[in-house]
Amino acid sequence: MASMRFSVVRLRAAVPAAVLCLLVLAALLLGDRAVQTASDAVAASFPLLILDAGHGGQDGGAVAADGTNEKDINLSLTLTLDDLLRSLGFRTLLTRSDDTLHETPDATTVRERKVGDLRYRLQLTQEHPDSILISIHQNQFYDPRYDGAQVFYSDNHPQSEALAQCLQESIVKTLQPDNTRRIKESGEEIFLLNQTKVPAVMVECGFLSNPEELKMLKNETYRKQLAATIVNGLLDYFRNRT
Ligand SMILES: [Zn+2]
Repeated sequence: MASMRFSVVRLRAAVPAAVLCLLVLAALLLGDRAVQTASDAVAASFPLLILDAGHGGQDGGAVAADGTNEKDINLSLTLTLDDLLRSLGFRTLLTRSDDTLHETPDATTVRERKVGDLRYRLQLTQEHPDSILISIHQNQFYDPRYDGAQVFYSDNHPQSEALAQCLQESIVKTLQPDNTRRIKESGEEIFLLNQTKVPAVMVECGFLSNPEELKMLKNETYRKQLAATIVNGLLDYFRNRT
């Protein structure tokens, strides 16, 4: 394992940003096989990536004026992100892969089911202490003017902030040049980030309350672009990680 790790470190150091970006593009354009071999050796030594599509089942999350449920955009985006990351050889684990909440045996109310489901998601991070949590959500505000992605981070692990910064910068650089939002430390209101001990971020990808952004979030091509920018930010984080 030691020699494997050495070669991976050397390879990581030798792979410039442009090549990593090309790997992402190649994965998008060519599918799994073309980039599998090149990326396997690099990605296999990285932490497990726990991808968390916010809400699900009876918990729809935010609801847009046209009835679009946040949970559906979250899931679609997360599945795309998962495809992309696995194409690059990363190990991933989804907190949900369909429109359900995790079953909690004793839960009778929707609220109890939501709490049970969040505890299950937290448990996944506890079972994999060498993991990174990336939670995908959409924002909503009473004033429809506001738009743009914003990344929140947990203060329980020193690497969370750096990861959030890389993701925010990647989104701004490649998709939202006018976005002036800054990353923000989460508080008690975000249960998963507040409780988990692994590096953890929540990407609020956009505002369902902004008609233009809602239209984009409902567009599959835009969601692929968003997923690619998240991957690029993640690669930046891994390159800069000490
Ligand atoms: Zn949400």
